[in-house]
Amino acid sequence: MRSAQLFAPEDLRIVEMPTPEPEAGQVLVRVMAYSPYGTDVGTYLNKGGRYVSEYPIGIGADFSGIVEKCGPGVDDVQRGDRVSALALDHCGTCANCSNGRTNLCLDPEFQTFVRQTACEEFTLVSACKLARLPDVVSFEEAAMLAGPVDALNAFEQMGLKAGDEVTILGVGAMGLGAIATAKALELRTIAVGGSGKRAELARRMGADEVHPIPHHGYDLAADLLANDKSAAAILETTASAWGIEQSFKLASPGGAIALTGGPDLPATAWTLVERELRLFGVKGGAGQAQILSLIAEGKLDLASGISRRFDFEEANDALALLASEEARDVGRVIIRIGDYENAKETPS
Ligand SMILES: [Zn+2]
Repeated sequence: MRSAQLFAPEDLRIVEMPTPEPEAGQVLVRVMAYSPYGTDVGTYLNKGGRYVSEYPIGIGADFSGIVEKCGPGVDDVQRGDRVSALALDHCGTCANCSNGRTNLCLDPEFQTFVRQTACEEFTLVSACKLARLPDVVSFEEAAMLAGPVDALNAFEQMGLKAGDEVTILGVGAMGLGAIATAKALELRTIAVGGSGKRAELARRMGADEVHPIPHHGYDLAADLLANDKSAAAILETTASAWGIEQSFKLASPGGAIALTGGPDLPATAWTLVERELRLFGVKGGAGQAQILSLIAEGKLDLASGISRRFDFEEANDALALLASEEARDVGRVIIRIGDYENAKETPS
């Protein structure tokens, strides 16, 4: 099979590799669409040497495909099924998994993160991670579930319901997915960030208010607070020092902040106490099926966020675009790995 492998930062090449065999509990999936997001860009650049310790290495987490072959003991899916899987794996039997909190699996084996690779013709996936796609959900939509699943988890933890207001920090891949999900759940959405066309995309995805920034790192919170615009619920999607600092400035007394990653907090215990701030960590989520239902019902529109499509052979160009200054004008990027226009009729 052909697989995209990183040989060094910014050096992604398509090479021939043996097609893997599914072992017990595993499924071999023929990849159709892969949509890179921030973590992939971090891996591509190996920012701060934090993402990759040895080369070559595969890349890609958010994808969709068709079941090609099931390993022993797999009976939930079968060859030909259209599926999607997120990065986190789980045991399926511990107390948290039994309660549907599979992203917080208690089994130590699943607490160390194993990289999912999707930028290749076939990928091996643990069967319990797979979600079957409703017929009306496209392979492209199903390759963009990570942001919405994170957002759903965050909104649930913050206790938001229809009509409530949420401020979403960042309008990258994760932020745009979060905005679309907020819209689907009938939240009032304020998008903060974006210095290029991504701010327009935020509006198209359903944000009720958009506050772009004139340049990277701008202190927009100061402007918003000067206009009495503090925030009762914030989802921070940039996982950056800037986004986290903006979140802590914007949060109103009694406010909630959901974090998806990033460096040190700009806060002491007193910061939390004085404003009774509530902090939530968002580690993926378990709402894949619910997100797929929202797409199938026509409530969640992810397709409008797609800016560019690349062929598999152009995978390096796609990642290079997302790592460049031009990315501020680009929404989601899809890498077409399988021939999904014809895939439905011929699950060979
Ligand atoms: Zn578990």
